[in-house]
Amino acid sequence: MNQIEIEAPFRVTDLKQWTYCPRVFYYHLCLPEVRPVTYKMQAGTEAGQAEEGRETRRSLKSYGLKEGRREFEVALLSSTLGLRGKPDMIVWLDEAREVIPVDYKLSDILGDHFKLQVTAYGMMLEEVSGYKAKRGFLYSIPKRKAEEVKIDQRARDKLQAALHEMHRILRYELMPEPTPNRNKCLACEFRRFCNDVI
Ligand code: SF4
Repeated sequence: MNQIEIEAPFRVTDLKQWTYCPRVFYYHLCLPEVRPVTYKMQAGTEAGQAEEGRETRRSLKSYGLKEGRREFEVALLSSTLGLRGKPDMIVWLDEAREVIPVDYKLSDILGDHFKLQVTAYGMMLEEVSGYKAKRGFLYSIPKRKAEEVKIDQRARDKLQAALHEMHRILRYELMPEPTPNRNKCLACEFRRFCNDVI
């Protein structure tokens, strides 16, 4: 582990695996060499980069905002949360001292795992800027539509609870329980390691 990984052992994208199945997160952590970069992951990265070009030409009206200062590709690290990551875009409302993270997704279903990621970016931005993060946005590339994500106490508590468990697993090298939704196991690339399912 390098210094950055010691300070912030988890990537914001790890929250997606955690939400899908805690064991998928665990295998990514313990067996990083097992999982190659898949076509889907590569396509997501490339689509995000292409969207950044379109975003600079797009008005902030897509987010219901009249004005704001936009920034791209800003690397964030929080040693308090133990997280690191790079939101696709940040909108700064300097007068209101508000900061808004935006993430592009190559999906038309914007599930809870994506919302957890936006909450994480918001809390990390608050920590580095002192601005308030009350909301963020998920932008569905296929639907060309932004959806607001409330960064309220409920969302923050949910993130803290997930991180608490993730840190516990890292510290004690605990194998989490399998997902209760065993349908997910049918097409899981880690199924060969899970001898107690199906
Ligand atoms: S096989 Fe099932 S329990 Fe095991 S990692 Fe995959 S989804 Fe999770």
